[in-house]
Amino acid sequence: MDKGSESFKSAVSATVPGQRGFDYLIVGAGFAGSVLAERLARELGQRVLVVEKRRHIGGNAYDRYNDDGILIHPYGPHIFHTNSADIFDYLSRFTQWRPYQHRVLASVDGQEVPIPINLDTVNRLYGLNLTSFEMEKFFESVAEKVESVTTSEDVVVSKVGRELYNKFFRGYTRKQWGLDPSELDASVTARVPTRTNRDDRYFTDTFQAMPLHGYTRMFEAMLDHPNIKVMLNTDYRDIVDVLPWKHMIYSGPVDAFFNFQYGKLPYRSLEFRHETVPQEQFQPVGTVNYPNDYGYTRISEFKHITGQVHPKTSVVYEYPRAEGDPYYPVPRPENAELYRKYEALADATENVTFVGRLATYKYYNMDQVVGQALAAFKRLMQRHADAAQAGRDASPLAAAGRTPAQA
Ligand code: FAD
Ligand code: UDP
Repeated sequence: MDKGSESFKSAVSATVPGQRGFDYLIVGAGFAGSVLAERLARELGQRVLVVEKRRHIGGNAYDRYNDDGILIHPYGPHIFHTNSADIFDYLSRFTQWRPYQHRVLASVDGQEVPIPINLDTVNRLYGLNLTSFEMEKFFESVAEKVESVTTSEDVVVSKVGRELYNKFFRGYTRKQWGLDPSELDASVTARVPTRTNRDDRYFTDTFQAMPLHGYTRMFEAMLDHPNIKVMLNTDYRDIVDVLPWKHMIYSGPVDAFFNFQYGKLPYRSLEFRHETVPQEQFQPVGTVNYPNDYGYTRISEFKHITGQVHPKTSVVYEYPRAEGDPYYPVPRPENAELYRKYEALADATENVTFVGRLATYKYYNMDQVVGQALAAFKRLMQRHADAAQAGRDASPLAAAGRTPAQA
């Protein structure tokens, strides 16, 4: 980072002698970093510097209007859903919402059918007319017996059998992760349920909605506080030894923080191909998955998701990649073991709190990261309370067993 730049100078001027400098240095302006910045500044009056190496706030949830004036998600489609009223209420302080229920079709055997697999998926695929009850029997008849469900293959074949597994999950997973489902934890494909009814929503959470004016506006509202200073375009390593701070919140990749000393933690990357087409609609639903054809896993059309009305439409294709920005931790036993080594280092690093999807190597959705950040804030708040108490206890009056009022 250019030490003559305006943002560097203004951050330095915030720490001139006579002022307190920064209480917190927060690395990353995604959900993890922004929630903690907001809480620490608003609730505890802390002076916070948020350092973000990208040109924008919001992390992977960042959205913007493209040259045609269509609201897009540069890092892939982000749909907000949660079962937690606390998390939804918290974010509602910074945005209004547009109710939205995501629907996904999978392109299989020349048809576009609902995924998660439901009653209509099976009936349309096989030209049947089963009832929900008959569908349960059908699944029972094709399901494979699995002693203990540990892998992403086990989860699916034990519910819907090998044929549907091959049609919907095997190819998609191999493409997305570069691994066979049998090499991934059960938790990965378990994200996608199986239904015997006609519910074709991708998520069934209690709260499903999109920020009315987009994610970036929501992040702007979170970070809009006189105690919060945001430095974009800056790797924290460029300023960490220059600007004074007391405690760090780190939301980047945990292995990078420790200079890869135990080796690289595998992260899966994506390449996004954005296109705008001169027609009002491109596809019938927000996302169409391509488990068995093409180099991409899915195409998402933003106007379905954002509700925007526009004569053109913008879509994004996702091409999985081994190299590139880290987007997904890869849930499998050997990676969990390597992460545990980094976690032990993180636990031993007292003046740094690790929060977020990359820093804790967890395949978390946005709401889970918000929940994790709010929980971290509670622990930090307790620390502040304990320190204040210890300060009082250490005073001569407290040592004498008297409160100031009694003195
Ligand atoms: P991030 O958003 O990654 O933020 C971390 C920030 O730290 C980044 O901006 C990064 O630039 C910055 N940083 C890293 N290193 C440094 C450094 N050295 N110096 C300075 N800054 C640094 N979740 C949902 O709930 N619903 C969805 O529909 C959904 N769809 C998704 C689709 C895709 C393609 C992807 C990849 C993820 C999706 N997610 C979705 C998950 C969601 O993106 C994450 O849960 C959430 O954004 C994680 O927030 P975070 O703050 O932990 O990390
Ligand atoms: N998956 C699949 N076929 C699908 C949809 C999902 O095999 O049509 C598997 C795949 O391994 C994927 C995982 O389920 O990575 C989780 O899917 P989800 O849609 O939750 O992925 P994300 O939105 O996080 O990329």
